Amino acid sequence: MASTVRTKARPTIHEFDLIRALHQRHGRRTPSVIQGIGDDAAVITSRAGQWTVLTTDLLTEGIHFDLRTATMADIGFRAAAANLSDVAAMGATPQYLLVALAIPRTGARQHVLQLYRGMMAACRPHRVELIGGDTSASGGGWFLSLTLIGIVPPRKALFRNGARMGDHLYVTGTIGDSLAGLRLLNEPPPRVKRHPRAAAFSTRHRKFLIGRHLRPTARIAEGRWLSTHRFATSAIDISDGLSGDLRHICEESHVGVELDLDALPLSPACRAYAASRRLDPVNLALTGGEDYELLFTVSPRQRPQLEQSATKRGFSLARIGTIHPLRFGIQALSTDGRHHRLANTSYKHFT
Ligand code: ADP
Ligand code: MG
Repeated sequence: MASTVRTKARPTIHEFDLIRALHQRHGRRTPSVIQGIGDDAAVITSRAGQWTVLTTDLLTEGIHFDLRTATMADIGFRAAAANLSDVAAMGATPQYLLVALAIPRTGARQHVLQLYRGMMAACRPHRVELIGGDTSASGGGWFLSLTLIGIVPPRKALFRNGARMGDHLYVTGTIGDSLAGLRLLNEPPPRVKRHPRAAAFSTRHRKFLIGRHLRPTARIAEGRWLSTHRFATSAIDISDGLSGDLRHICEESHVGVELDLDALPLSPACRAYAASRRLDPVNLALTGGEDYELLFTVSPRQRPQLEQSATKRGFSLARIGTIHPLRFGIQALSTDGRHHRLANTSYKHFT
């Protein structure tokens, strides 16, 4: 899976040719795009009365991705999924993408095309259009910045600050998978038998976890469903880890929370991985970032409709806690019935 980025000596990239190639491959026009790639700026029509949602992410080589364990296409896919997930957490529909890119001397045109292939593979199911960007050389590694634009009906956007006392806390999908996948990628190759029980861990589970890390799914349909039906009082996507992202909801909403550790949704693969490495899977779920699942709160009155509607649509949800007054703080309830203060163990760049 190693990328070939570092093997070639200074291939030349012709910027205009590259932009033309990107335009041809990915710059399809929908009627709402008045001007896409090719002019000084993009022009779009906006739907009257809709709210516009804007988000941007910067990814740098060595901090957010590692070319030894991910292909350029994986990196593009994951970057797009992270941005799509932010839009999902707002309850919005993503529409347009802008991409700024700094290419190191070792980067070749082929790498850029692969990067965009991955990015657009994540965007295509949501009909997100590439409408522009910027390209530069880099004196260091790769830099990739994505800007995503979306819409949401007025007053339907989901914020972090709406959680109220008594609300139930829910999460979509399963959590901890991405961290398990990342750890697998960083482990020495399986033939070096570091873990005596590693053999018990199946190839299927391994593929699933690595897939969850390299090719995460943004929960766009779930986010729109939560906002359309006004089910969620607050929402956030899990990008830094459950413990940290839950803290954001609590701080913004001025509430406390009781998190039921027994209820955390863990995949069979995550459980199997944890068992084979003698880890607590709950720890993977609490600290692991980049699962890109949605974490949200729902008033008790809405609970029956929410759960019925989720079942009907095949959305997987787990109820993992209850909102309490601020003075309750952030507490985890463990299997033995004891309460613990939840440590903030999520990913931090600057410590
Ligand atoms: P300018 O000098 O005005 O910034 P550029 O030559 O950088 O113009 O860009 C020309 C067109 O190509 C613009 O429409 C811009 O949005 C698009 N573009 C440039 N770089 C990229 C990129 N990396 N990805 C997508 N579109 C790009
Ligand atoms: Mg430019």
